[in-house]
Amino acid sequence: MLRVIFILLLAVASFAQTLTVGTASAAPGQKATGYIEVPAGSDPGTRIPVVVVRGARPGPALAIVSGAHGTEYTSIIAVEKLITMLDPAQISGSVILVPLVNLGSFLQKVPHVNPVDNKSMNRYYPGNPNGTQTDRVLYAMTREVVEKCDHLIDLHGGDLDESLRPYSYWAPMGNAKQDALTKDLVLAFGLDTIIISKDRPTDPSASRYLETTASLRGKPSITAEAGYAGTVETDDLNALINGSLNVMRYLKMLPESGGPTLTGVARVGPVQNPVWIERVDTVSGNDAGIFYPLVKRGTYVQQGMKIGYVTDFFGKTIQEAVAPSSGVVLYINAVPSMKKGDTIANIGVVAAKAP
Ligand SMILES: [Zn+2]
Repeated sequence: MLRVIFILLLAVASFAQTLTVGTASAAPGQKATGYIEVPAGSDPGTRIPVVVVRGARPGPALAIVSGAHGTEYTSIIAVEKLITMLDPAQISGSVILVPLVNLGSFLQKVPHVNPVDNKSMNRYYPGNPNGTQTDRVLYAMTREVVEKCDHLIDLHGGDLDESLRPYSYWAPMGNAKQDALTKDLVLAFGLDTIIISKDRPTDPSASRYLETTASLRGKPSITAEAGYAGTVETDDLNALINGSLNVMRYLKMLPESGGPTLTGVARVGPVQNPVWIERVDTVSGNDAGIFYPLVKRGTYVQQGMKIGYVTDFFGKTIQEAVAPSSGVVLYINAVPSMKKGDTIANIGVVAAKAP
């Protein structure tokens, strides 16, 4: 009994403390803004904007991150809206909000990579303090964000050249309890198409993705994507904002009723019968040329169906792109530019039954 009281006192005492991420420090009931500073190394330093919302009552710490790809605008604007919407007085626990991991990509409108070192900022986790800027940023993200949260949501979307329909990922790691929780989180988020991702790294020191970095450190986490081709459409934006709020409600960080809501948007509960995707097949460009799509994001296609074609610069067709399998077009190249090896489309193969 004494031990229980001691542990409870410890929990209360640790909650009463200020939560500091980078230069943002918030005591219970406060919201603070700041930066995670990334020192210069072989190339220039940078900084990552961060907001800490410390709820008035105890509860878990949830990190909501976007902008690893700085031109996946819908996900970035979703986190910006959450920064304004979240009121510490309504929250149990803490929310760490990181809207823009990749500031260079956002400012210079460079898709996919950090323009400083041409690396994707969701492929080099857990980072390296002695590497190039991307490695150092991801190292700082692991130390400051992953290690200080209990759960993480990584938000993405179609990049400037990707016409994407919304979906989320469920990545079972082989730990039954944690996998059941991440499945609940992804259902609570509410997107109706979920990719079952079973090929994630298992080594915490080579975790590659942000979500995997958190999951391999025992922090049940998910990734969700909405938005496409540089647009910020209301439906996509609301899906990411509502999904994040739904996860907070599931984790009891917000009351079941009340708390922030989007005006004029009905609250959608956990998705009941999502389309589970068991495999993603990629169609790539064979050569440089001009791409013409024949289907849209979200179209269901039959194996062998023509989904687009590539011509040379004189109008002669040099590649017929056909669906390698039957399934849903998760995304299709959104622009005429095509170079050898670029993704033409990702086709999601629907699982025969729910996992
Ligand atoms: Zn992305």
